[in-house]
Amino acid sequence: MRIRKNVRYLPKPSFSPKVPARVRLDRNENPFDLPPGLKKELMGELSKIPLNRYPPAYPKELEEKIAEFHGLEPENVMVANGSDELIGLILKVFDGDHILISSPTFGMYGFFATLEGIETVDVPLEEDFRLGDIEAFSENARVIFICSPNNPTGNVQPRKRIIEVLETGVPVVLDEAYAEFAGESNTDLVKDYDNLIVLRTFSKAFGLAGARIGYAVASEETMDYLRRVLPPFSVSSLSLRAAEFMLGHTDYVNHVIRYIIDERERLYREFKEYAYPSRANFLLMRLDAHDFLLERGIAVLKLSGRLEGHIRVTVGKKEENDALIENLKEFIEKEEKLGVGD
Ligand SMILES: *Cc1c(COP(=O)(O)O)cnc(C)c1O
Repeated sequence: MRIRKNVRYLPKPSFSPKVPARVRLDRNENPFDLPPGLKKELMGELSKIPLNRYPPAYPKELEEKIAEFHGLEPENVMVANGSDELIGLILKVFDGDHILISSPTFGMYGFFATLEGIETVDVPLEEDFRLGDIEAFSENARVIFICSPNNPTGNVQPRKRIIEVLETGVPVVLDEAYAEFAGESNTDLVKDYDNLIVLRTFSKAFGLAGARIGYAVASEETMDYLRRVLPPFSVSSLSLRAAEFMLGHTDYVNHVIRYIIDERERLYREFKEYAYPSRANFLLMRLDAHDFLLERGIAVLKLSGRLEGHIRVTVGKKEENDALIENLKEFIEKEEKLGVGD
């Protein structure tokens, strides 16, 4: 068999179940499943869906509801199987021999570029995690990826800077997976910039990571091309229903967002010396505490490369954050006793 070279060099998936942890703060998930009352209501709705039937070929109804939610037209919205799927689809639409990313950032951009057989050019974020001179490498770029708030650093890129990058005319994918926790968004810019595609998701603030629903927001002209590469029937009718249900319960969603932001700020205050300010549902911390925490039943993400010795901690429920605080304080005390870092 002749395996394509780009596939041969892709690493094998390593998403095997990890050490079981009592507290999971490693995947930026929403710590709350639906409360029992709402869950029951949703399950009642799901039970009415005929599973022998295909879902709609294209999820128009949900797109209409999302458009209304953002004050845009349905033509501006495209739903897919998580925003991850959209990253892959977008790279099929445009021409150009490389993508631009700004590390440290989300790994899926590079993954899908490799799948497409094109290069990933990295213009690392500045010391303070602002975008570097990405325009200098924009010639013949297929897509520029900007993640804001950025995973794993948690900062947002100023709107003014995003507009400067848009002025290159190169397609810009603005990944706003965490926008609900930042309280600001740039979806409205699609009215002025044809080359902007904003990615949003139901996986984080809306708490539906298991349902795999994401969406893109772009101008009608750009969407016209994006829709051509979306395989029909790709989104499950169960997931579509769940997403529509959440849009009908935004009071609840906003309450959870508020809770997570409050808890994020509490964690930040506790570890000011080690944590970077965050506009997302996680915190980057300059603490090499991954193994220490895991031994105590708390899973966080261990970072590497430029962020060697750092962890990314998802904001959890109050009691989970309490456990984190207690154990991290113990870790810091231990490190100080050993004189690490002196
Ligand atoms: C979690 C996350 C997503 C969400 O992806 P889905 O496929 O919609 O679950 C997208 N981008 C970034 C940067 C993320 O961290």
